[in-house]
Amino acid sequence: MSSDATTTVDVADNLQYVRGKIQSTCEKVNRPVEDVRLVAVSKTKPLELLQQAYDANQRIFGENYAQELVEKAGQMPKDVQWHFIGSLQSNKANALVKSVVPVSAQLTVETVSSLKLANKLNNAMEALEEADCPKDKKLNIFIQINTSGEESKSGIEPSEAVSLCKEISDKCNRLFIQGLMTIGAPGDLGCFDTLIQCRDQVCSDLGLESLEVSMGMSGDFEAAIERGATNVRVGSTVFGARDYSNKN
Ligand SMILES: *Cc1c(COP(=O)(O)O)cnc(C)c1O
Repeated sequence: MSSDATTTVDVADNLQYVRGKIQSTCEKVNRPVEDVRLVAVSKTKPLELLQQAYDANQRIFGENYAQELVEKAGQMPKDVQWHFIGSLQSNKANALVKSVVPVSAQLTVETVSSLKLANKLNNAMEALEEADCPKDKKLNIFIQINTSGEESKSGIEPSEAVSLCKEISDKCNRLFIQGLMTIGAPGDLGCFDTLIQCRDQVCSDLGLESLEVSMGMSGDFEAAIERGATNVRVGSTVFGARDYSNKN
């Protein structure tokens, strides 16, 4: 059943549908559509489907597994921007940066939740050869916030966001804190409001003019946009349901 689902999914159609929803939701709440970035989450999906999305002008892809992202980045065109959205062990940070930054337009790590990981990413950027990455280029990161209070979810507590953002911006010259990210509890839109409040707090305490918010997936990206999301991560609505039976 899964291979049939893969061959019959119409990625271009699905993308058009999602883009249409983003547009109509932005119009509804009076936001410019350019304010919302669509990350097409292609984890577990074969390259053919990513290529179909690329052919339909999608350039921003999201992946959850470091090794899978490294492999795909090596095979997709160099103007793709990759968002890493899975949990990243510190010891994989260097390999991710080293293999993806030189062969892509941009790597963004959306799931930074410790100074330790930030330092590893920063060191990995510094270790890149000038030919692979100009010395003034930064790695984009989002700080992952646990807005649902569930122990199973990664991310720092909202109350820890100000201090972690401050430490990272003081100590990690090669990282740019682009925003805050959350997954939230399914169906609990209050998590999105929590992330917005957290963003406002970080902006005012650190004197920042703006900071992005990454929230919203297939089931709730419209609600997230209504609440102010600037980055939505949509997987199954673009690429079809995922089949994990081949993963261990
Ligand atoms: C898989 C995943 C998504 C996409 O989920 P869908 O429900 O398939 O859109 C978004 N964000 C994160 C962090 C994910 O792991």
